[in-house]
Amino acid sequence: GLPLVAIVGRPNVGKSTLFNRLARKRIAIVHDEPGVTRDRHYADTSAFGRDYTLIDTGGFDPDSDDPMKSGITRHVKSAIEEADVIVFVSDAEVPLTSADRVAIALLRKSKNPVIYAANKADSPKMDADAFELYRLGVDKVHPISGLHGRGIGELEASIIAAL
Ligand code: GDP
Ligand code: MG
Repeated sequence: GLPLVAIVGRPNVGKSTLFNRLARKRIAIVHDEPGVTRDRHYADTSAFGRDYTLIDTGGFDPDSDDPMKSGITRHVKSAIEEADVIVFVSDAEVPLTSADRVAIALLRKSKNPVIYAANKADSPKMDADAFELYRLGVDKVHPISGLHGRGIGELEASIIAAL
């Protein structure tokens, strides 16, 4: 089959919005309520002439900010097992949370390529917030807006390069 690219991150960071943007059609149901998308959505898509299958992994328990209870570990580990490439999404509008840090620590142990995207960076003035990820030692951060399309071409180029 096609290479698998999984989108992971906390509820409400914009995973489903990014999925729809990358899939170029509205497949996943996007809700304003955090964590509503619980099941997995798959879409075959392409960028720069390369085909891949995108997975929207839904969320983990949005009611708990305690990383032990939230299911973030299970969420990230199942994505690492299933996918060839992971796209980690954070929310540039708010500081990184403990769940983000747990996810990043797990992802850094993954043998598969991980691409880091700071979403909701709707304008360049948000990029400084995106760069919080750099302080954790991430090599490259993509400030993006899944909603408005900002930075998506560069993100797709990184995804294709990692396949
Ligand atoms: P998910 O729970 O991670 O799948 O997040 P969703 O895709 O359902 O988005 C959660 C909320 O964030 C929705 O209200 C989206 O409209 C909003 N959102 C998603 N992407 C962006 C973005 O790039 N910029 C802004 N400002 N809002 C966004
Ligand atoms: Mg969702």
